[in-house]
Amino acid sequence: MAEAPATSEAPAALVVCDACPVRCRIKPGQPGACDRYANLSGTLVRVDPLIVVERTLARDGAMVPFLGDPDWEEGRLLRTADQYINAERFVTGIGAGTTYPDYKPAPFIVAGTYDGVDMVTVVTEGIFSYCGVKLKIDTDRHIGAETATVRAGGEPVGHVTTAEYGSQMLSIGGVRHLTGGGKKEGTVTCETMLKLCNREPVELAIDGGSTVIVAAGAAPVVDGIAEERMRVGCGSATIGMFAPAWKGKVDEVVVVDDHITGVLSEHEAGKFLGIAPSGIYMRGRRSTPGRYFRVAEPGSGWGGTDITDPLTILGPHNPKVARPGQTLLMVSTTGEDAAYFVLDDALAPVPAAMPTDLAETVALIRENCEPALCSVVFMAGAGGSLRAGVTRNPVRLTRSVKDALVFVSSGGAPAYVWPGGGITVMVDVARMPERAFGWVPTPALVAPIEFTMRLADYAALGGHVESVVRADSLAGTFAGGRDGEERLRAVGWSADNPWPLARQHFPWSGRP
Ligand code: SF4
Repeated sequence: MAEAPATSEAPAALVVCDACPVRCRIKPGQPGACDRYANLSGTLVRVDPLIVVERTLARDGAMVPFLGDPDWEEGRLLRTADQYINAERFVTGIGAGTTYPDYKPAPFIVAGTYDGVDMVTVVTEGIFSYCGVKLKIDTDRHIGAETATVRAGGEPVGHVTTAEYGSQMLSIGGVRHLTGGGKKEGTVTCETMLKLCNREPVELAIDGGSTVIVAAGAAPVVDGIAEERMRVGCGSATIGMFAPAWKGKVDEVVVVDDHITGVLSEHEAGKFLGIAPSGIYMRGRRSTPGRYFRVAEPGSGWGGTDITDPLTILGPHNPKVARPGQTLLMVSTTGEDAAYFVLDDALAPVPAAMPTDLAETVALIRENCEPALCSVVFMAGAGGSLRAGVTRNPVRLTRSVKDALVFVSSGGAPAYVWPGGGITVMVDVARMPERAFGWVPTPALVAPIEFTMRLADYAALGGHVESVVRADSLAGTFAGGRDGEERLRAVGWSADNPWPLARQHFPWSGRP
């Protein structure tokens, strides 16, 4: 459990915290270095409440409202026995405490019958040195070269990885920044990851690139400008999507994009619609008809290129094909930049007012863009020590996870388990309850992790069955006990998350 008596060799008034290798010697009434544990009248206590996600049975699993719940707002839960009976609860690792190093069973090993099956959830707060954050920033703008160092407060905390479709990806943290550099680097890295995982804004500066302000679920701010839209597709995809909308309204369309710039008349979509060649000359490297790579350098201009004048990516029109009066639309992949031209007698594009029906097609591109957001995915490897808190035979836990006999969650949110050795997981922090993460000054991040399985499977993998408590008795302990009331808090289950105890997660589902 989370409480532990004072270690015998410590002076009577002090408590030595054994929840991480720092081994804080905590004075009465004081917290330890991480603020997670405190000395309460000579007893080591986990300060934060244990978070239980809860959904009602009466409403067939609908979310229990917790915002507006006066008990919850008071920061404690005072539910009657009836309320407990009419709700399904899942004990998360948030506030559970740790058993590091895990010569002891995990803090909570909670059993209950769900859907007619005896189930158990092993609950702990893992201390993760091998952990990091994958950050997806929805923007076409070039924010830094691949492998460029990402800094927070001047310290290196990560690097730029490859771009994804409409997004720039950063890797933040990792064991090398946490423990492989200077002390300040480790501390700042841990602090940066903690903020990101707890959905707080963080300012990051990329060597040779941009400064971005990022927060999970919020629009990124790139060099002081809030990004609004994620591109609808690359230039080629945009041509494919909107070619019918342009037919009959304009002679040629160029969709400017750092990845693939599209040209309507040359593109398969244009040919399909019978759009005539325009004699346009595109700079860059022609890939396939109507698709051009590297028309410009990456930047924060049109379509993630460095251009602000789209005509710079055009050469002279072919006089054998082009004709005076021919019209041309140039547009970016978000529709935020667009310009309309008419060829003069010398076949030079001259800016002109865009016809209304053509402007509507640009608006259609904008409308089809999704909101630009930052996504924060926590990634960590559950080491042998953590696994020992679950079972005396840790490799059996790994095998059981791989065999899908164990459902892994983090704060109740589903964790993606990587293939291959070990238990390496990823979880979207936006699906977790707020402020689910902590830290210790080793430095390392503290994150909740839960392993849910059949009780029989838990026994078979060598689990600490002697430490199993029934969920009902746990609730009673917290609801009626001493200062236990303050240590349990129910939050509503997010309907986006699968219920961790549901049998659909397991291969034995459907069997009698
Ligand atoms: S830093 Fe470590 S030893 Fe100190 S209070 Fe926190 S968990 Fe305990």
